[in-house]
Amino acid sequence: MSVRTEQSGQRVLVVGAGMAGVQTAVRLRERGWPGAITLVGAEPHRPYDRPPLSKAVLTGGTGTAPDTAFDVDFDALGVELILGREATGVRPGDHEVDTDAGPLPYDHLVLATGAEPVALPGGGAGVHLLRTLDDAERLRPVLAARRDVVVVGAGWIGAEFATAAREAGCRVTVVEAADRPLAGVLPPEVSGHMRRWYEEAGVELLTGRAVTRVRFGSAHPCVLELSDGSSLPAWAVLAGIGARPATGWLAGSGVALGEDGSVLADERLRASVPDVYAVGDCASFPSARYGRRLLVHHWDNALTGPRTVASLLTAGEAETPPYDPVPYFWSEQFGRFVQYAGHHDDRDELLWRGDPRGASWSVCWLRDGVLNALLAVGRPRDLTQGRKLIERAAVLDPARAADPSVPLKSAVR
Ligand SMILES: Cc1cc2nc3c(=O)[nH]c(=O)nc-3n(C[C@H](O)[C@H](O)[C@H](O)COP(=O)(O)OP(=O)(O)OC[C@H]3O[C@@H](n4cnc5c(N)ncnc54)[C@H](O)[C@@H]3O)c2cc1C
Repeated sequence: MSVRTEQSGQRVLVVGAGMAGVQTAVRLRERGWPGAITLVGAEPHRPYDRPPLSKAVLTGGTGTAPDTAFDVDFDALGVELILGREATGVRPGDHEVDTDAGPLPYDHLVLATGAEPVALPGGGAGVHLLRTLDDAERLRPVLAARRDVVVVGAGWIGAEFATAAREAGCRVTVVEAADRPLAGVLPPEVSGHMRRWYEEAGVELLTGRAVTRVRFGSAHPCVLELSDGSSLPAWAVLAGIGARPATGWLAGSGVALGEDGSVLADERLRASVPDVYAVGDCASFPSARYGRRLLVHHWDNALTGPRTVASLLTAGEAETPPYDPVPYFWSEQFGRFVQYAGHHDDRDELLWRGDPRGASWSVCWLRDGVLNALLAVGRPRDLTQGRKLIERAAVLDPARAADPSVPLKSAVR
């Protein structure tokens, strides 16, 4: 029997109908996968894109939110879409996934269950998360009513939500346990400048204070108690304190998970048990480029990882290069377009391109002259060029790279 004939009798089951799951189905068909494809998602909505949820969807007022559904015709692609169905376990020996409505068989299983936001201890009414369309729909009336809101966490989601809430006319306070915004991802000399973005937008940023408890208030629906003994009343609270891979349902299945909860995929995104693969926010993979395992929670990773799995299934290992991308993401906050490519750590030398007090500037991270990572604020051309230079491990002339009037690609030695 030819490989194609054999494959035409096989089923790929994709669990999780977000960006990575949808892309897996689309790429498989693009590459001519002849067998069945079933895409199962826990949410009831047609698969949709998440980045607009913290941007245009929030500020659309009381009217209909912009439609963020993916423009994919699943019927035409011959993809069976099962929505509102939650996977509860995998039995690799039986090649079956258990769901809340019975088991589903597979020949190949792609795990694409994304991530789920970390909740505030205590939680309660008035405390929101922002991961799903339903979350965003619950937050839209809060913004439309111009309520006083408190955001916990000055990370990417916190900053984007604060931006939208200010645009809507809310009074916004952001509480951050670290001493500055984005403390987990950027060094102090860079993220220190972002404190000013909050001030300029009229957002009160309280740093060095953790939320110890959320309780009901009398005049306001909730009161946040902070580690310095103070308390903060709010009509609504958004917890933007991170996300973890949504892999709890895999416990005990034999699929190896890391301490961070991610599916431990190999360099071609295969999980630890046969015929199982993992893509997007739920998976980590070894990066030869950066010499470490990466868990990437960004849209571009959910777009590109599925190409590797689709290639592996349709063309085989010999035709499929290892998955080793230059990570990329963007954020829109306080009127600025912020983009980052690559991966840096403390060993890298930091080089400024432009004045961080101005509207647009970039930062490069170099190791032995090689460009490892780049942050661009309002300089998309730096990002486009920098990303290519990172990919080919280009060595830069630091003096030229530090001159924002010199195109980055012309700073190559
Ligand atoms: C508000 C918001 C704004 C963002 N903005 C940006 C941005 O500006 N730039 C950027 O680069 N990235 C951004 N991201 C990140 C980006 O959206 C994610 O990296 C991307 O959505 C990951 O895709 P995914 O398919 O891996 O996971 P998800 O999009 O999380 O999809 C996973 C799907 O699996 C489903 N699922 C989970 N468990 C089960 C189960 N047991 N059974 C069945 N289904 C299940 C979930 O319900 C979900 O629908 C943003 C994310 C959010 C939440």
